[in-house]
Amino acid sequence: MVARVIPVDTFDLVIFGGTGDLARRKILPGLFRRFLAGQMPDGSRIIGAARSDLDDAAYQSMISDAIDEFGGPEKDDKEGRKAFLACLGYVQIDAKGTDGWKDLAKLIRENVVQAFYFSVAPSLFGDLAERLMKHKIATPHSRVVVEKPFGRDLESAKALNKTLATHFDESQIYRIDHYLGKETVQNLMAVRFGNVLFEPLWNNHYVDHIQITVAETVGVGGRGAYYDRSGAMRDMVQNHLMQLLCLIAMEPPSQFGADAVRDEKLKVIRALQPIEPHHIVRGQYDAGADTASYREDAENPRSFTESFIAMKTHISNWRWSGVPFYLRTGKRMKARSSEITVVFQSLGHSIFEGEESLPNILSIHLQPNEGMDLQVTIKEPGPGGMRLVSVPLDMTFADALGDSDIEVTDAYERLIMDVIRGNQTLFMRGDEVEAAWAWTDPIIAGWEARNDVPKTYEPGSTGPEDALMLLHRDGRKWREVKG
Ligand code: NAD
Repeated sequence: MVARVIPVDTFDLVIFGGTGDLARRKILPGLFRRFLAGQMPDGSRIIGAARSDLDDAAYQSMISDAIDEFGGPEKDDKEGRKAFLACLGYVQIDAKGTDGWKDLAKLIRENVVQAFYFSVAPSLFGDLAERLMKHKIATPHSRVVVEKPFGRDLESAKALNKTLATHFDESQIYRIDHYLGKETVQNLMAVRFGNVLFEPLWNNHYVDHIQITVAETVGVGGRGAYYDRSGAMRDMVQNHLMQLLCLIAMEPPSQFGADAVRDEKLKVIRALQPIEPHHIVRGQYDAGADTASYREDAENPRSFTESFIAMKTHISNWRWSGVPFYLRTGKRMKARSSEITVVFQSLGHSIFEGEESLPNILSIHLQPNEGMDLQVTIKEPGPGGMRLVSVPLDMTFADALGDSDIEVTDAYERLIMDVIRGNQTLFMRGDEVEAAWAWTDPIIAGWEARNDVPKTYEPGSTGPEDALMLLHRDGRKWREVKG
């Protein structure tokens, strides 16, 4: 099956921070793939804007190197690469000063879609927004893309929203959470709302509990100082895990449109119960045979910041009352694996003597391979009576769609193209972000007030022992973390 390419209008995309890690690792290699897929109309331009003193040719060469380093098989398309690089320009700019702004103003066209990607520290958002307006570069139709972290608490998130709102309407602001751009996350909505099978069962009458795990094998080395000021709660739970929780738990929106979807997600966040302190386990990874401990990576021997968190939460509404949601994320874990699991209730009675009924389990895999499977009970083949086994009905896209080469678009590529199309459905709205912080802040404040010390855990494990107990106490167990 060949992926359909939906055309977009001609655009000027300015990437502030165009020489930075994110731009080189994700944004530009992603745009190169969209270019090759025929999704960049003739005349569209990408303009890197950053502090380094470069001209267009030097920037093109930097991005060519980035494609070599971070691109996939498409990097072998030499002709394609040459044509793509010809669409790139560069402006040396000072977000806090005057340098470069007149040059940028001259470059940007009014009769095409304009998007400004703020791939810089959030402390620069206000400076960029102000200068885009002052130099009459942005128009009421321009779009602004902002990266995480969106604040470090409710107060700072409100301040950022206020800064952006001074210059732009909410309909112009695209807050990225790249988890929402993943193919499987959108497929979750297709499965839920496009089939008769699941929605009738998607509630507390049939669902026993839901688990969301985002496990990473890497430590925080390299960005330890930054991470130490945030921790797993701010870095992962407040944004990525809560967004996944919203999509799994929200009511069906009346249509798959930006405000309809975001209204329903907001209701989920607002219905989250405050968490009991004994329903949270915080952890910090220890040193391994050849890996440093969290405190060494963070260069903070007295750090109380968590590199792991597991928690149980509930949603106070008719659909989910009584159903626990277990969330877990951590660094230096056993495998790199992100998964959402819906565990359905077991049948009350088994008609097969000596065989207990096994629950149906829907697993949605986000990484390393995107796909879904549904555990169903069947008879174990062969003679020897009626023995039951649970087997997965595999819904891995490549297999199911009959083409192992089918392209699963990277989250960043999809989201950037949505910006150009003007589709905000997969972006967080300001009130959503604030509601998420309003739920997270008291939890963090509680730790700070109690001087809560995270439990250490072995690198390559599934976190501290207490995290296992969180489910054991409820007669449940975590899904295996496997890559
Ligand atoms: P980086 O430090 O690698 O790059 C920063 C960029 O900003 C550089 O291009 C630099 O020239 C530019 N810059 C800094 N000060 C400037 C100024 N005064 N005027 C003009 N340009 C200036 O940072 P990064 O890792 O690319 O991250 C960029 C943003 O994306 C940050 O907000 C970060 O939190 C977020 N983010 C990054 C990643 C990632 O994987 N790197 C992932 C998610 C979110």
